[in-house]
Amino acid sequence: MQELKIRLDEDTLNKIKELSEKHNMTISDIVRDAIKSYIEKTEPSTEQMPTLKMIITKYKSKCSKCGKDIGIGEVAYWSKGVIVCLDCIIASMGDKTLATKYIKKKELEKVIKGLRKIADELEERIAEYQQRLKAMEIEQKKAEVYDMLNDYLKHFNDKRLEEIANKLKEIEEKVEEAKIALTLKLKQSKKKTQGD
Ligand SMILES: [Zn+2]
Repeated sequence: MQELKIRLDEDTLNKIKELSEKHNMTISDIVRDAIKSYIEKTEPSTEQMPTLKMIITKYKSKCSKCGKDIGIGEVAYWSKGVIVCLDCIIASMGDKTLATKYIKKKELEKVIKGLRKIADELEERIAEYQQRLKAMEIEQKKAEVYDMLNDYLKHFNDKRLEEIANKLKEIEEKVEEAKIALTLKLKQSKKKTQGD
C-alpha cells in the first residue's frame, strides 16, 4: 500500500473522527472506504456488474462508464440503474478479437430471435390464407353446382329437383349465418389474445 497525504478542512476531519469512534474504525479505514465507494459510484467496473444483460436500447441514454451517448436501437449492456456502451464492454474484456466475436454472436442471437418471431407470425398468416383459399374453392364449387341445377331446371320442369334446390338454398343461408357468427367469434378471440 502506498501513502497519500491529503489536506482536509477541520469540519470534515471532525466528522471523520466522529465516525471513527462511532464505528470503531481507524481514520484511514474510513477515508479508504469513502474513496472506494466514490470510485464505484462514479465509475462502475464491469467486474462489479456480473448481471449485465445485453439489450437493444429503447430509449436514449448515456453510458454509465464513459458518458458517451447511447442512441435508440443500439446494443448496450444493462443492469438496474446502469447502462454500459458496447465500446466499454469490449474495452473491459481482455482479448479484443474474442470479445468482439462474443458480442457479434450475441447480437446475431438477438436478430435471429427477432426473425424467428416474424417467421412464426408469417406462418400463422399463411395458415389463415390457406383456410380462406379453401373456403373460396368451396364457394366456387357450390356456385358451379347451382349453375348446373338452375340450368337443368330451366329446361326441365322437375318438381322434386326444384324442392331440392330450395332446400339447398335454405341450407346455404344457414351456413352463411354460421360463417358470420364464426368470423365474429374469431375476431373477438383474436382481440383478446392481442390485448394480453
Ligand atoms: Zn461507454
